[in-house]
Amino acid sequence: MTSLSIQSVTDVHHWNDSLFSFKTTRDRSLRFENGHFVMLGMQVEGKPLLRAYSIASPNYDEELEFLSIKVPDGALTSRLQNIQVGDEVFVSSKPTGTLVLDHLLAGRHLYLISTGTGIAPFISIIQDPSVYERFDKIIVSHGVRYVAELAYRKFICEQLPRNEFFGEDVKQKLIYYPTVTREKFKTRGRLTELMSSGKLFSDIGLNQPDPSQDRFMICGSPAMLRDTCQLLNDWSFEESRQGHKGHYVVERAFVA
Ligand SMILES: Cc1cc2nc3c(=O)[nH]c(=O)nc-3n(C[C@H](O)[C@H](O)[C@H](O)COP(=O)(O)OP(=O)(O)OC[C@H]3O[C@@H](n4cnc5c(N)ncnc54)[C@H](O)[C@@H]3O)c2cc1C
Repeated sequence: MTSLSIQSVTDVHHWNDSLFSFKTTRDRSLRFENGHFVMLGMQVEGKPLLRAYSIASPNYDEELEFLSIKVPDGALTSRLQNIQVGDEVFVSSKPTGTLVLDHLLAGRHLYLISTGTGIAPFISIIQDPSVYERFDKIIVSHGVRYVAELAYRKFICEQLPRNEFFGEDVKQKLIYYPTVTREKFKTRGRLTELMSSGKLFSDIGLNQPDPSQDRFMICGSPAMLRDTCQLLNDWSFEESRQGHKGHYVVERAFVA
């Protein structure tokens, strides 16, 4: 059984009716790699009810941050969405996951492809100074249905470039590419279609992906993962597996 620590909620932010994020205290002994997830939960009917959650904060932060969906009848999130500052949550003590930079071969361009809450691990990764040392361009693409679901948009566009340590790198290297499917926005359509048509790459001024220099991290719905992996495999990219570095890594943002 995973060992759990009890942490206090220090901040809650509701983005809209379907998404919220929150911060908690962090156990001093908790070590994780940017991109990892933990099991997180609450006491329900006398026992811990846990779900997998990506850590959105970077591993040098004193607190932990999470981005959460609100599933109206979801066992955990129907309750978790009501948490308040000072409430307690369980956090497992063994973070894990595949979305880590060390699983990728060296490359020039790093694509972080996400839908919905799949952006959470990438919020951690784009706050990792080493990502700017390893890659010439880091592309954060976030596909959502409605503009209000573009969580962290202001943080990426306004706050991160002002970071006192790596803000200059962010200005030169980070490209944010949000896309919306169900309402008017500067970029419309599903990420998989924008990739297969080549529009995503031409919009940001980069060539069609090439396994010799491009790397991908993918986090989203099972359907999005399936389609994106198919596309990358067709382009001769190889997934990192069983400790072998590869051209891309994937993680489900939820189980269907
Ligand atoms: C590796 C991993 C990392 C995850 N990281 C996160 C995270 O950072 N943030 C987060 O909100 N969830 C994340 N999830 C999903 C999370 O574990 C739960 O499913 C979610 O919190 C809902 O819990 P629930 O008990 O309310 O509903 P559940 O019974 O778990 O889910 C009910 C249904 O809601 C839908 N659903 C669940 N989660 C999502 C989601 N994130 N986006 C869209 N639809 C969803 C699915 O159709 C699911 O069948 C992750 C899952 C995995 C496997």
